[in-house]
Amino acid sequence: MLQLQDKRLLFRLMFFVLFVLAPILDLFRIDLTLGHLVFFGLDWTLGLDPFLRGETGVGHAALNLFLRGLLPILLVGGGLLWLAWKYGRLYCGWLCPHFSVVEFINGLMWRASGKPTLWEHKSLPERQPDGSRHRPDPRYWLLTVPAILAFSFLWAVVLLTYLLPPVEIYGNLWHGELTRNQFVFITAATIAFTLEFTLARHLFCRYGCAVGLFQSLVWMVNRRAMVVGFDAERARACASCNAACDNACPMRLKPRSIKRKMFTCTQCAQCVSACNEVQRDNPEGSLLHWVQGEEALAVSDRESRHERGCRPARSDNILKTIELVAEQQ
Ligand code: SF4
Ligand code: SF4
Repeated sequence: MLQLQDKRLLFRLMFFVLFVLAPILDLFRIDLTLGHLVFFGLDWTLGLDPFLRGETGVGHAALNLFLRGLLPILLVGGGLLWLAWKYGRLYCGWLCPHFSVVEFINGLMWRASGKPTLWEHKSLPERQPDGSRHRPDPRYWLLTVPAILAFSFLWAVVLLTYLLPPVEIYGNLWHGELTRNQFVFITAATIAFTLEFTLARHLFCRYGCAVGLFQSLVWMVNRRAMVVGFDAERARACASCNAACDNACPMRLKPRSIKRKMFTCTQCAQCVSACNEVQRDNPEGSLLHWVQGEEALAVSDRESRHERGCRPARSDNILKTIELVAEQQ
């Protein structure tokens, strides 16, 4: 049976393929040459042409604008926000093609240098959650650098196919006949993505992506939303662990922390899987779990109690100690 992370990998792979193929298959693209959307092979216009020709009135035009423009945006945006309100940034961790690149490059950099990003102060511990040892191998830079360039180029080309007919773009690329504007776009976007994927990929996920930011904001509003919860009463079990959950987090968060400090959590559950592995011989199992409702309230309430200046509970003290230790690691 597929493990949680295998399932996630499958979802991410399928969505990445969809992201690349959607314009080619005319599933979704904004064709600037036509001046409207193409959706599942159909021309998706705002239906304003009859009004502009003077054949219909303002009321008909406004209705078309609402039904063909505003309503689909509200439905898709509202659906995504509802999902985030209830389950957090599931889209980011399980589907987003940008986050897939983030994790892929993290993995390669970690193999090459022992650090998942260039900004990490120290190398991650060699001991892995399953007890095996990983030693950095600088030869992986020979894969990391081309992978960053390849993903940057791919992203640049795919983005352009969302704006101009894919047949034209891929045809021009194949024959080396890109127009000047197409060449400038692809070159500039490739350079920008190379810088971003190398230096600022987490920063983009945290603060640069509107889709991610709005998901985080609505998730924070719902204190009962799904969140990774830590069994603070069993915190002593962490003593023999080298903070495998912190090491596994692709967003470089501290998963045992309070919800506010996990504002950009992508619900990837890498921390949960790492703890499952560390505690595989422990009958009580992992100390980290997804929790919802009342249990999720406890993760947020720890924070509220601190903010109201209430005396912290015993488990809060344990948690505070863990946070301090984690920050020093
Ligand atoms: S805290 Fe856990 S679930 Fe959230 S991003 Fe980090 S590893 Fe993923
Ligand atoms: S929660 Fe699990 S993975 Fe994290 S430090 Fe404790 S034992 Fe290790």
